Amino acid sequence: MRYLITGGAGFIGSHLAEALIARGDQVRILDDFSTGSRANLAGLGDHPGLTVVTGSVVDAALAERAMADVDHVVHLAAAVGVRKIMQERVAGIRTNLVGSETILAAAAERRLPLFFASTSEVYGKSTRPAFAEDDDSVIGSSSLHRWSYACAKLMDEFLALAWFHEQQLPVTIARFFNVTGPRQSPDYGMVLPRFCRAALAGTPLEVHGSGRQSRCFLHVADAVAAILALLDTPAAVGQVVNIGSDEEVTIGDLAGKVVAAAGSTSLIQPIPYATAFPEGGFEDMQRRLPDTRKLERLTGWKRQHDLARTIRDSLTWSR
Ligand code: NAD
Repeated sequence: MRYLITGGAGFIGSHLAEALIARGDQVRILDDFSTGSRANLAGLGDHPGLTVVTGSVVDAALAERAMADVDHVVHLAAAVGVRKIMQERVAGIRTNLVGSETILAAAAERRLPLFFASTSEVYGKSTRPAFAEDDDSVIGSSSLHRWSYACAKLMDEFLALAWFHEQQLPVTIARFFNVTGPRQSPDYGMVLPRFCRAALAGTPLEVHGSGRQSRCFLHVADAVAAILALLDTPAAVGQVVNIGSDEEVTIGDLAGKVVAAAGSTSLIQPIPYATAFPEGGFEDMQRRLPDTRKLERLTGWKRQHDLARTIRDSLTWSR
């Protein structure tokens, strides 16, 4: 199969590209290298199965050219990371809304199956214990800019499902919950790589808020296994599917685990949200736990990596 991966030079995309090429598929990457990098693709060298197109997903003509001769589109390109979303507001919305519309329209023109990367952020502030795919979204005010990411991804989901229902475009939507591990950049607010960098440098690990908010971190290898399984599952077409880990940890405890695993002397330093995000417009949610029974039922997927392994691999990479 020939795959187009938008955002393929990024964290998840580069691991997916490697996995597809390892199983004999061909990969074309469309990426503007805003948060992705050539270094992420270094493991593939100049493999004949890989081609790279540099440019933006908002460029309709480029998107059409990038889709020539491919069998399947995996749309991962997005403006990600709380810090980036808060600091580059218009550009973030443009990529996440216009970029996705452009990619969907180009795929629809060619009737190409499309996998879309959505996010657990679409559940918003909902206080349900574990989010299932049909649960409500509880989104904050538009004066709190962090919600723009969730809203853009939610509109992308609506649009993808509309293409599926009106034109039978084969789309599959995955909602990722805190995927992490080797190659995730610490520069855009992602917590585990940020903690690893600080622990290894002996500088304080900054925990935003009380540190009692919890998350579930999924090793990128498990996320890629889930993507591959969904790509190969016809019953996943037209579906929204959570991808995440059920191992929950508070951010305060995560900081302690990283310090211990690194053998570091770093301090753990609580930082009020208002200090961490002086531009304002931020609020956090206490828990974010996925219900992954649908993914398991559809594909038989099971998580293979626990949090301790995920932290170890992230530290090794940071080193
Ligand atoms: P990433 O930043 O490493 O990857 C995004 C890639 O998209 C980068 O290579 C970047 O250069 C590229 N990109 C950004 N804007 C672009 C544009 N306008 N045109 C072309 N390329 C562009 O982040 P990631 O964690 O690998 O995220 C991949 C996808 O998964 C994103 O859609 C993200 O919203 C989604 N997601 C990730 C997580 C997670 O925990 N990592 C959670 C939820 C959803």
